[in-house]
Amino acid sequence: ERIAQVQAHIAAACARAGRHPDAVTLVAVSKTQPPEVLRAALAAGLRHFGENRVEEAAAKMPLVNAAAAVPPVWHMIGKAKLIPPLFQVVHSVDTLKLAQRLAEQVPAGAAPLPVLLEINISGEDSKAGLPATGWQQDAALRAALWDTVRAVLALPALELRGLMTMAPFYDEPEQTRPVFAALAQLAAALRHDTGAPLPDLSMGMTNDYTVAIEEGATIVRVGRALFGERPAPGPGG
Ligand SMILES: *Cc1c(COP(=O)(O)O)cnc(C)c1O
Repeated sequence: ERIAQVQAHIAAACARAGRHPDAVTLVAVSKTQPPEVLRAALAAGLRHFGENRVEEAAAKMPLVNAAAAVPPVWHMIGKAKLIPPLFQVVHSVDTLKLAQRLAEQVPAGAAPLPVLLEINISGEDSKAGLPATGWQQDAALRAALWDTVRAVLALPALELRGLMTMAPFYDEPEQTRPVFAALAQLAAALRHDTGAPLPDLSMGMTNDYTVAIEEGATIVRVGRALFGERPAPGPGG
C-alpha cells in the first residue's frame, strides 16, 4: 500500500511538472531494515535499494540477491570507503580524493562505476557534500567546484551521472524548493560548461520528494514513507 501511495505521489508530481513518471527512479532507502523486509519490498515491486553503511549492506545483500529472480540495484547513499562490486551506483562522492579511491577499486576492464557528486547547497554544517552555497555569486567557489567536476569527469573508471543533495529538514516541505532549484541550476551550468550529459539529479526524501520532482529530480531516495519510521539511533550512532 505504501509503495502504491508513493508511486501515486510521484506520478502526480510528474504530472504537475509536465514530466513522464518513468523519468523518476524510486530508490527505497532500506538502511536499518532487516533482509526479510527488503525481500518483501522486492516481491512488492521495488527494484532499487539505498544503503548508507557498507557493513550492514554487505551482510544483507547476499540474502536479498539470492531470493531475487532479478537482483535489485544497490545504491550507496552514505559515507564510506566502499567495495564497488557490491553497489551499482554511488550517490555520496563528496571529494576528489574519494572519487580517486573509488576509481582505483574498479577492476581493470570493468564498466565504469556510475557516481554522483554530493553537493552541499544549503550550507548547513551538518550536511556532507562539496560546498556550493551561493555558487552563482562566488567565483572562487565556482572555480573550485568546476575543477573537481572536471577532474572526476577525467577518471575513466567512473561515470559521473550527476549531482545529489540533501535539503535541510523543514516542517513545511515547500521551504526546500530553493535548495532543489539551485541544485538543478548548478547541474545545468555544469552541463553547459563541461559538455558532460550529467543526466541525474538525486534529490528528495520522505519529507520533500514531491517538491524535488517538481524541481527536476530524476532519483528520489525514500525511506520512511515506504518502510515506516526507523528506530531512533542509540547513543553514539
Ligand atoms: C536516510 C536517508 C534517506 C531517506 O530518508 P527518509 O526520510 O527515510 O525518506 C535519503 N537519503 C539519504 C542520504 C539518507 O541517509
